[in-house]
Amino acid sequence: MSLTAALPRHLLIGSMFAIPEATAAAAEPSLPAERRVPGGIAIVTIGSTADKPRAWFGDVPVLVVASPFGWTAVVGIALSAEPGMVPLRVEQPGRAAEIIDIQIGRADYAEQRLTVKPGKVDLSARDLARHQRERAHQQTVIATVSEPLPALLRFQVPTPGRRSSSFGLRRFFNGQPRNPHSGMDIAAPVGTPVSAPAAGRVIDTGDYFFNGNTVWLDHGGGLLSMFCHLDSIAVKVGDRLAVGQHLGTVGATGRVTGPHLHWSVSLNRQMVDPALFL
Ligand code: ZN
Repeated sequence: MSLTAALPRHLLIGSMFAIPEATAAAAEPSLPAERRVPGGIAIVTIGSTADKPRAWFGDVPVLVVASPFGWTAVVGIALSAEPGMVPLRVEQPGRAAEIIDIQIGRADYAEQRLTVKPGKVDLSARDLARHQRERAHQQTVIATVSEPLPALLRFQVPTPGRRSSSFGLRRFFNGQPRNPHSGMDIAAPVGTPVSAPAAGRVIDTGDYFFNGNTVWLDHGGGLLSMFCHLDSIAVKVGDRLAVGQHLGTVGATGRVTGPHLHWSVSLNRQMVDPALFL
């Protein structure tokens, strides 16, 4: 990340610091698509100070990257967010903290009704206790923020297959309302290879009640991927994967109606639509 990459493009042209256009483009972490709705992403230009600013959504640090237009915050918006204004707090060295309001629109996600084994909807006391333990564990995993920041904010599809546009669907399992669908489902036969959509470090693996065999990848800067319902897991915690590297195979473990990959992307602890990165 160079200092010149933080300057607006018009300042680069003709200046004594001018660098070839291709170099400026290479320094840009090719931003995801923007969609300011629940489960979407806001891309907020902060400015062109020499020192990198920090940004916070509530008390959660937000990814800030250099772009040709200056320092840019890439903000994950909660699926549970209400339409309206939300404040992004920006801190720059030597200046008072600044609030940038982000306008969140409406997404209008459709309903989805699924039928699964009754024991995966009305949980036994034992399964409920297990799920609560697993949910607490997941909250520690999703809070991971590491360096270096991701070099690219564009992903490869992790497995071939039919991609459903099911992100955000308000779900009913066996007629009962449950959390909205917070990832992308890719239908593929059991055993189909799953690969890293971007470089990352394995930060969690396990067999979970709802998610089945699961791998979490840390791409840096609070950007994470989660892969669920795997048939097999080929990696272990601490492994560093290059983009396209094998991490497991598609399966039907956990709460599923059939074999598929569930892929979630988390940004500042919020599950956002993976399609915005493709
Ligand atoms: Zn899913």
